[in-house]
Amino acid sequence: MTLAPSLPRVLVSACLLGEPVRHDGRARPASSPVLERWQAQGRVVAICPEMAGGLPVPRAAAEISGAGHRVAVLQGRAAVRTASGTDVTQAYLAGARHALALAQQHRIRVAVLKERSPSCGSHEVHAGRFDGAVHTGMGVTAALLRQHGLHVFSEDQWDEADRCLDTPISPGA
Ligand code: SF4
Repeated sequence: MTLAPSLPRVLVSACLLGEPVRHDGRARPASSPVLERWQAQGRVVAICPEMAGGLPVPRAAAEISGAGHRVAVLQGRAAVRTASGTDVTQAYLAGARHALALAQQHRIRVAVLKERSPSCGSHEVHAGRFDGAVHTGMGVTAALLRQHGLHVFSEDQWDEADRCLDTPISPGA
């Protein structure tokens, strides 16, 4: 589909768009009238940060360990590790930088990303113990995007993201 040049675009996690890019080779397709409208308008730009960072499908699940602060991975104070302890932080950072570059290329200021992912989670992430526990925090990509001024929402916030997307940018913003 041709992207509409006059409408602001929005960055969306590829797995929410039905792309089988998750670590287990599956998707997490979202169902939302807002998303359907954005897609019909050609506003959606897909990103899977983990694949953009060079990781394959399937890949080992990973979680953020040692996260004491929301941007700890960006600051080098926490790592992303697989259950066997392999440090995959650099791939996650590379994917985050790729997502930021894509957003900047398309002048994107709103993203809807998959909650609880160590890359895409915007409010919660898995707690690093691989036992299903989650805690408040952000994935590496969500944190980097927010650090650069993007508004990052989860798949539970389509309406909020839609309102934000169509809010005019104030002069000088
Ligand atoms: Fe989905 Fe983000 Fe995980 Fe890729 S990195 S599979 S887009 S949650």
